[in-house]
Amino acid sequence: MAATVNTVTGPISSEDLGKTLVHEHFMFGYPGYQGDATLGPFDREEAVRVGVAAAERAKSHGVKTIIDATPNECGRNVEVLREISERAEIQIVCSTGYYYEGEGAPAYFNFRRALGTAEEEIYEMFSREITEGIAGTGIRAGVIKLASSKDAITDYEAMFFSCGARVQKETGTPIITHTQEGTMGPEQAELLVSEGADPRRCQIGHMDGNTDVVYHMNTLAHEVNVAFDRFGIQGIVGAPMDEARTACLIGLLGMGYTERILLSHDTVNLWLGRPLRMPEQLQRLLANWHIGHLFENIIPKLRQAGVTEEQIETIFVENPKRLFDPLPVREAAGATPS
Ligand SMILES: [Zn+2]
Repeated sequence: MAATVNTVTGPISSEDLGKTLVHEHFMFGYPGYQGDATLGPFDREEAVRVGVAAAERAKSHGVKTIIDATPNECGRNVEVLREISERAEIQIVCSTGYYYEGEGAPAYFNFRRALGTAEEEIYEMFSREITEGIAGTGIRAGVIKLASSKDAITDYEAMFFSCGARVQKETGTPIITHTQEGTMGPEQAELLVSEGADPRRCQIGHMDGNTDVVYHMNTLAHEVNVAFDRFGIQGIVGAPMDEARTACLIGLLGMGYTERILLSHDTVNLWLGRPLRMPEQLQRLLANWHIGHLFENIIPKLRQAGVTEEQIETIFVENPKRLFDPLPVREAAGATPS
């Protein structure tokens, strides 16, 4: 039976997701950008224009759905997402969630944690945004976004994991995560499962920050899915070069993990705040950090390495669907070495 998926324009069947990019950002701002509004004011029209252009580029590669992984406090704007979705005629799924302690805005819920109310409040927020809608818009979140730090899941972050698992148990909503520099993958999986999440409905993200195959196998051992979702990011945020992540990916595909891997770019199509000025060397490293990169540059390399069209279809169409609508346990494709 198909699951219902909340998109920013309303519910759809998981059967209709089609080819899906599982972790992108139409807009993103590191918290603090709001204070720089004098020199970096929000230009809604430009946000929609840039978003539509990105959506159209993705559509030209057959993409039907984009999951926008922007946390609530990093400039999530679901009405702009809805306008992009309508204008570009592409399905967008938005998130409910908070970013990791180091780069998010932890002051708000840490204050409330000191008062002893944070955990219940985070639970209510996730639950309300999924079942009723976000800030009076009627737009409902389709995934829960969770995040942890480099080499640690802080007490602050653990509250969100616990609430996310609880809300998933009640609503079936998939959890997508941020690992910092690809660390804490197995620990995130363990924590989520111990809090009652269904590992098949969990996507451990930014795992391509780590190119050690054994580390991936240790994460996959928890029955979760892993996302190589930062293709094109090189030279910042601790990301490895594409060649290294591609080699690791090919290794895992060759070992039979095709049904547990998702791919995306973590693009930021519009930076909130002042426009970025990137050093020239970084511009070169990031030249392929765009929403067409996987299709234009990486998939041809996968084909050369013997990855089949069927595997590519599984990764982009079947696996996202399965996050919302997992197969019964017995049929679930496990890590069966081929
Ligand atoms: Zn992201």
